[in-house]
Amino acid sequence: MGGMSESTLPDLKAMQADLHTLASIESPSGDPVAIQRVMDVVEGWARDLGAETHALGGGTRVFRFGVHPAGSEQPVLILTHADTVWPHGTLDSMPLRVDGERLYGPGTYDMKAGIVGLFHALRALRGEWPRGGAVVLLSPDEEIGSLSSRVHIEQAAHAARVALVVEPPVADTHALKTGRKGTGDFCLTFTGVASHAGNKPEEGASAITAAAQAILDLQALARPAEGTTVSVGLIQGGSAVNVIPAHCTLHVDLRVSTLAEAERVAAAVRAWTPRDPRVTVQVVGGLNRPPFEQSPGTLALYEQARGIALDLGFDLPSAVVGGGSDGNFTAPIIPTLDGLGAPGDGAHAAHEHVRLDRWSDHVRLLTRLLREV
Ligand SMILES: [Zn+2]
Repeated sequence: MGGMSESTLPDLKAMQADLHTLASIESPSGDPVAIQRVMDVVEGWARDLGAETHALGGGTRVFRFGVHPAGSEQPVLILTHADTVWPHGTLDSMPLRVDGERLYGPGTYDMKAGIVGLFHALRALRGEWPRGGAVVLLSPDEEIGSLSSRVHIEQAAHAARVALVVEPPVADTHALKTGRKGTGDFCLTFTGVASHAGNKPEEGASAITAAAQAILDLQALARPAEGTTVSVGLIQGGSAVNVIPAHCTLHVDLRVSTLAEAERVAAAVRAWTPRDPRVTVQVVGGLNRPPFEQSPGTLALYEQARGIALDLGFDLPSAVVGGGSDGNFTAPIIPTLDGLGAPGDGAHAAHEHVRLDRWSDHVRLLTRLLREV
């Protein structure tokens, strides 16, 4: 890794080289071996900076910089993830490439460039860690709901004073994220009665008809003005065109800005009953990530970051966004500032890229924030 100090700018070429190293290792959420390969590289960087490192259950790695167990000051928690939404082989059709001020490739913006920028910022501290030290968690499953890492993230948050998340800033505007919607999903399984569609339709009870009614009823639970959206994104059902269908399943995506809204929608989903009493419905699921509600502590952290950015010569807006992150788990516990990764656009999309012309500014910001927070 390239060096950097207060007086010099981040070494963009070295950052690009490190990003190339990480992004060349494809690491879809479902492949723990591939994800460990990414983690091994990052752990090497952490050790080079003197971190104490170890692995937790489920594959999450933790790197501690200047943390003293008996210290009176709690550390800064920093959240990162090594998985991406991209399957193996994506690099064949979406190779890493630089075009002008943009570096394209799967997993670059979300969030391998965030990891690289973090380690360049940590290196720039030259061993002067934040008060209480810094704890970096590198998780393997953020893109699929953090099922194994959630407990580690919440435990670490209880032992920390603030959380910084190096997910990318808001696309194009480069704004930090001071709030995120909570995310949840439901799966509804409908069971009706099969029958011949021509000879004895009256003996059948259509699971698809019940599901169709449910779609409209459940989506009507949305309250966009309050930030609540409900969308049936997947449907599967039926066995043949001439059979009254006995089976149908729906998958429902839920986003909420408050816990109260999550509870209102969940209660209504569970209480929903088919018009035809011969059809039964089974509901599983619920809220996965709680809402990351803007708190005074988070806004104070944002104002501190904005002051640093202004001092460095750029303005730093903020936004509340619909997508969830692991910051949703820490925000109910400690002040959390998200979007401190690399600027760019195209998360989970074919045009995923990092903005090379703006990346250094965000690394300088993170360096100063780590020093002053
Ligand atoms: Zn991410």
